[in-house]
Amino acid sequence: DDTAARLAALIRTIPDFPKPGIQFRDITTLLLDPDGLRLAVETMAAKIAGPIDLVAGIEARGFVFAPALALRLGAGVLLIRKDGKLPGATIAEDYALEYGTDRIAMHADACAPGARVLLVDDLIATGGTARAAVRLIRKAGAVVSEAAFVIDLPDLGGAAALAGDGIAVHALVA
Ligand code: 5GP
Repeated sequence: DDTAARLAALIRTIPDFPKPGIQFRDITTLLLDPDGLRLAVETMAAKIAGPIDLVAGIEARGFVFAPALALRLGAGVLLIRKDGKLPGATIAEDYALEYGTDRIAMHADACAPGARVLLVDDLIATGGTARAAVRLIRKAGAVVSEAAFVIDLPDLGGAAALAGDGIAVHALVA
């Protein structure tokens, strides 16, 4: 639709980043555009069924959208970080990369049992990152029922896998 086309026009593709053969979708150009940024945040917020207690942003580009959505939804912000960055006691979750594994973490006491959490990131590809975040938040006793992304790369299957985990997936651009 028109909104998706306007947002897509503000996202550029950088070839061969971070390595040869990868077409990297760069949202920094969208963030630089005041109208585009507002359109992205407001369109995302309008898709959320809610109610939401916490918006969980995934480091680093999820951190850009999480507070903007949280303010609109009357929620707090939960930081999902690369392991080793958070100062308090953490719980962590590993996930597979093309070569090797990575680990994300959150503060063990970050959410009250049963808290309703919206997961946010800039892009979902294979879903490895987002699904690890869902396992982590669920391990903490909270409920993840929705996830929102600026960009979905549907051919990589992440959004479908997340839907299979029982999550309503919202994306602005596919
Ligand atoms: P996945 O785990 O779904 O395969 O990859 C998604 C994660 O990697 C997200 O945290 C996202 O920020 C990052 N990512 C992977 N590819 C891209 C890309 O082309 N553009 C951007 N902006 N992020 C990407």
